[in-house]
Amino acid sequence: AKAARSPEPCFYDAQMDEAVRARRELVTDLRAAVEAEAFELHYQVQASVETGEITGYEALVRWNHPTRGRIAPLVFIPLAEESGEIVPLSIWILRQACFEAALWTNRHIVAVNLSPKHLADPRLVETVAAALADSGLPPERLVLELTESAIIHDRNFALDQLQALKAMGIGIALDDFGVGYSSLDVLRSFPFDRIKLDASFVSAIDHDDQAVSILRSVAALGRTLGMSVLAEGIEQPAQLSIVTREGCSAIQGYLIGKPARVLADPGEVRQAMLL
Ligand code: C2E
Ligand code: CA
Ligand code: CA
Ligand code: CA
Repeated sequence: AKAARSPEPCFYDAQMDEAVRARRELVTDLRAAVEAEAFELHYQVQASVETGEITGYEALVRWNHPTRGRIAPLVFIPLAEESGEIVPLSIWILRQACFEAALWTNRHIVAVNLSPKHLADPRLVETVAAALADSGLPPERLVLELTESAIIHDRNFALDQLQALKAMGIGIALDDFGVGYSSLDVLRSFPFDRIKLDASFVSAIDHDDQAVSILRSVAALGRTLGMSVLAEGIEQPAQLSIVTREGCSAIQGYLIGKPARVLADPGEVRQAMLL
């Protein structure tokens, strides 16, 4: 509603007004940044707990704002979702990740986060096919990570989209498992290749026996369903031992590598996992 038409507010909140103005400004900047492609991708290593070998790298977008510096994706991704900038941004991320990964001599997998709005875009399958064809990245080297919130909106359409992507040979990961609406039904009905256990869940395992029991069950469930289970947010060697003991197949976290422009070195990753 236009401010001019609304009645005088009973409480005038200058702080709120300022927050709204700042937000609107950020949306404008975001729009310009998408147009100028003022983002870059950092990559965080993922490794097998069994062998210590690298299994892939997750692409994480970074925005260096011209005056405010680095803005966290947890701030600007939701803003992009709400303001309609997410699909163009998401297309840029996908294409950039494919083009960069196509140049990696190690031929590892690149995992790209897929926003809920992009999964709902009818042109997604076409966009992904074009990104692969244009970059020359084989479909087997691309994994798309998505959360359950991407699925609950239009379930049947989400299933169609994921099945089409899967048929192309792309891997699909269920992100942030263990928080939110994680349901067994989604695991059963959707073509996931891997489950990513959320970091907030993993951080509880060194002091919470119940969390360890759940971890063990999820790892077993993944094995039964033929999905690999990756534990996110591993910072401590103790956490690595627990997830290894309980049957997780892979890890990601600061212990073995932070997101960076330069890909983590295999020797350093193996070293970190031996500690
Ligand atoms: P996510 O997909 O769950 O990504 C993992 C986040 O955990 C990343 O934060 C990563 O830097 C952080 N992380 C990794 N290891 C550790 C650890 O050991 N300890 C702690 N404390 N944190 C760790 P980041 O890069 O800030 O991204 C936050 C979220 O923003 C992502 O969560 C994802 O939901 C979203 N996001 C980031 N990049 C993209 C993107 O390219 N596209 C989309 N759609 N979303 C993205
Ligand atoms: Ca992710
Ligand atoms: Ca995650
Ligand atoms: Ca998360």
